[in-house]
Amino acid sequence: MQDSAPRIFVNDTTLRDGEQAPGVAFSHDEKMAVARALDAAGIDEIEAGTPAMGPDEIDTIAAIANADLSCAVMAWCRALETDVDAAIATGVQRVNISVPASRIQMQVKLNAGPTEAAERLRRIVSYARDRDLEVAVGCEDSSRATPDDLALLARAAQDSGAFRIRYADTLGVLEPFGAFEAIRRLTDATDLAVEFHGHDDLGLATANTLAALRGGARHASVTVLGLGERAGNAPLEEIAVAAAQTGQFASRINIADLNDLAALVADCAGRPIGEAKAIVGRDIFSHESGVHVSGLLKDVHAYQALDPMALGRRHAIVIGKHSGLAALRAVCSDLGLDPESEAMALAEVRALAQRSKRAVPVDHARRIASAFQEIVSARRADFRVWP
Ligand SMILES: [Zn+2]
Repeated sequence: MQDSAPRIFVNDTTLRDGEQAPGVAFSHDEKMAVARALDAAGIDEIEAGTPAMGPDEIDTIAAIANADLSCAVMAWCRALETDVDAAIATGVQRVNISVPASRIQMQVKLNAGPTEAAERLRRIVSYARDRDLEVAVGCEDSSRATPDDLALLARAAQDSGAFRIRYADTLGVLEPFGAFEAIRRLTDATDLAVEFHGHDDLGLATANTLAALRGGARHASVTVLGLGERAGNAPLEEIAVAAAQTGQFASRINIADLNDLAALVADCAGRPIGEAKAIVGRDIFSHESGVHVSGLLKDVHAYQALDPMALGRRHAIVIGKHSGLAALRAVCSDLGLDPESEAMALAEVRALAQRSKRAVPVDHARRIASAFQEIVSARRADFRVWP
């Protein structure tokens, strides 16, 4: 990481936006466990839930707020006094107050235009500030708002005492160059800290978030594994590792904790992690291709960009259709195979991988190799070790 890399602040909304993913419902205990794990991983701020959902949600947010975490805990509110009152009942010090920013959402949700929306925002932020809450303002559907409307809302937020404005790409319509320009415009229009909240409908949430940070946002709103509405949000693990790996941004995130954190959230959400999921997928440090394995065995940096050790993991060699002799030699070196049995064993594991359409477990590959060693030694033919 560069010394001069700007510090970014990470807001994790797994417990609020993440839980809005279809079919996901965390229990009280699961929310507590995730909150503690997020805190331990170095998250700056947790969006813990929506108090207006009722007494159970208020109790859970209150328990998180009282759990002695070192991160900030915030509650999510609409621009309604009743929502702010419900947040106060949780004991949190900080709220995110959401206001629609696009004309269509202003019309549908507030039956109002931009002037009235800004006035309403001014009133509700003042209401919360008068009750000693720290207020961040979330501008919903910012990416479909006009720059003038967004600037108007930012002014209302700033004048009434908010500390931050969230640019929400609520429908995931942005691309990275657009995100960069939009955030540049917004940071020019306000003195408030700017946060970016991206959705992944086009598969661009991570790219858009990084572009927004390049454009001047210093806060990133993320969820573990990108859990969230529709295609989900920007994944915490991707943003944190990309920030560190590119050296462009400094954060407090403990990269080594991300794997366990992802496993916990996947378990609580009932959504298994894809094998090839960036950063935390099971197979992302497994190598089968003969060319890659041969290169890795000579010099690991030949095919390593991301260091698995940073994530508490290691490279793994798997034996399959694309394996070469170097891999089999590495796996079976303890067997002391001669060249003839090596070649036969390799042919067998390749054929097996082709038939089963998956990699051959290393132990099975060893058994095959060992069996061929015996075949060669005994000069027997027509031997199969696999069912
Ligand atoms: Zn969202």
